[in-house]
Amino acid sequence: MLKPRAKKYRSRNEAEREHSRLSPDNPVPLATFADLLGEYEFPKTEWVRCQLVDQKGMCHELHGWGWIAQLGDGSEGYIGHRCAKKHFKDDPRFADLFTRAAARVTQEINVGQLVAALRSLLEQPQLPEALNNLKRRWGELYQRATSLPGQLSDPLRRELAARRKGNPNVMIKVIYVEIEIDEKTKRERKIFSRQPVRWGVLGGLQALESKPLGKVGQRLNDAESALQQAIASEDQPQSSLAKWVAALEYVKSAEEDLGKYEAVLVAFCRPENLKLLWMLFRDQFDQRSAVRAALEMTSRMRATDAEVTAARDAWAGELRAAHGGRDFEIVG
Ligand SMILES: [Zn+2]
Repeated sequence: MLKPRAKKYRSRNEAEREHSRLSPDNPVPLATFADLLGEYEFPKTEWVRCQLVDQKGMCHELHGWGWIAQLGDGSEGYIGHRCAKKHFKDDPRFADLFTRAAARVTQEINVGQLVAALRSLLEQPQLPEALNNLKRRWGELYQRATSLPGQLSDPLRRELAARRKGNPNVMIKVIYVEIEIDEKTKRERKIFSRQPVRWGVLGGLQALESKPLGKVGQRLNDAESALQQAIASEDQPQSSLAKWVAALEYVKSAEEDLGKYEAVLVAFCRPENLKLLWMLFRDQFDQRSAVRAALEMTSRMRATDAEVTAARDAWAGELRAAHGGRDFEIVG
């Protein structure tokens, strides 16, 4: 007779309903052990006594985690996980029989759980549409993400890549001037001191790393293939079932992954953030190309040389105004 596939039971009621020959009073002697039919993990209020019998008699240990054992005569009983392992290991006649039975039961339980998970995923009516929307949203985002580096100069790209892994602070040195009167000559003397100030913190630098976004796209494609190919049946290989379940379960998290990427992209493209870029350079030429990138990304129009000069002067003016009209140095 073909045995039903092994299951894992979470309640005594379910186990005993599906196993009519399972009796909590049936002794399970090692010598008549035939097979394992299932596993259980009962809540504390439903714990059972172990029915395994060896030379010392019936085990009787109260437990919640164990196997449903079948004897040669077809009757069944509960045996505790821990104690089954202990006894069968010490008894070479049954060790092999038990190991194979446990492996088969475990595999059938895993396959059963995968099939159940897959079935419930495939039964979600909104899944195909949700997946389509995510793919569309991903496509737009990927295009924005991959066009972003092209809007930045090479030195800026390199600097931002280094800042992503390092220090996102944009520092300046504000120059303080004190006037001292020389006691002997009575002449005025200027004393300069430079005070480091954190003017800003670069945000959204992760937006320049589009590889994780590429991976999201790959996983959405996997989910789409799974949706077309998946068959929720115990006859399918366990590896395929696991692959389909993982691919379809990802759809839930894709929403969050895309949201995170959108957030960093928005953070990077904020005008206040772009306004910090030129301050990463001491070199005038690099400064100007960073100002240009900021202007063009904000307005989506080409910036003239005059506009670049005007913007940098205005931004430097804001900086001075914020520090009582004092001059400053770019730290870079
Ligand atoms: Zn026991």
